[in-house]
Amino acid sequence: MVEVRYEERPPKTRLMVWVEGTPFILLHFVPLLALLPGIEVRPIDWVVCAALYFVRMFAVTGIYHRYFSHRTYKTSRVFQFLMAVLAQTSSQKGALWWAAHHRHHHKYSDTPQDVHSPIQRGFWYAHVGWMWDNTDATDYSKIKDLAKYPELVFLNKVWWLPPTLLGFAVWLSLGWSGLLIGFCLSTVLLWHGTFTINSLTHLFGKRVYETTDESRNSFLLSLVTLGEGWHNNHHYYQACTRQGFHWWQLDITYYILRGLALVGLIWDIREPPREVVEGTWRPSKHRDAGAAEGSGDIAKAA
Ligand SMILES: [Zn+2]
Ligand SMILES: [Zn+2]
Repeated sequence: MVEVRYEERPPKTRLMVWVEGTPFILLHFVPLLALLPGIEVRPIDWVVCAALYFVRMFAVTGIYHRYFSHRTYKTSRVFQFLMAVLAQTSSQKGALWWAAHHRHHHKYSDTPQDVHSPIQRGFWYAHVGWMWDNTDATDYSKIKDLAKYPELVFLNKVWWLPPTLLGFAVWLSLGWSGLLIGFCLSTVLLWHGTFTINSLTHLFGKRVYETTDESRNSFLLSLVTLGEGWHNNHHYYQACTRQGFHWWQLDITYYILRGLALVGLIWDIREPPREVVEGTWRPSKHRDAGAAEGSGDIAKAA
């Protein structure tokens, strides 16, 4: 296991950043190949594009975020693995890498140590730039509760395998138009939909709760991200599964998780306590107060 503390990251040369970032930039143009003569885009390609966006956005928010990063509900070891595979089809690296970075974000949000703060480094750095600022290693000290599962550590190392297999399956069943529109376009849209949480939700929207960062609530972003737009709620109190604290705060991820709990695949979903919803709850000692058990580990490790 590679133990890399973000605070000790060695600098990267500008050339290395470009070499590593170029495939990501090029993939943005790949869907345009569907305009080439000989490629006929059918309605089914658009249906698959929308479905893969929806299912994988749920996986990003319900699995990477609310399960692996914050441990806000429980599940079996087998379903935990299957959830990690599904989340990793989003092509956002391994579940452990994702969780380690996210816990770091909560611990230092909007301070100079935050890995992706638009307040500290501007919109584009928080949106995409930070991923090429030598953040490719997984800081296992921040995810000790997850690193004890060898199957998750293995999956974290071969993070590229689930998206590659998904892309191949889409190509086999729907051909080139399916690959370009159904898989590639939905992946690019999914990336930027997810990235808005790091960039826009710390810049635009309403601040309902007093937090130590600049997190905000946005209805529009909650639509794009199936419920993650209630980011100020979430920074105020991280330990609950539900992020839309009121019935009118649309939180589609939470509704789907309730469905999974109903059929017994997950359990111990956490609701926000009344004093949290009312805003009278106060974090006690440190920035991690209100974090679920997994996130609580960071306070001890750091
Ligand atoms: Zn979070
Ligand atoms: Zn945040």
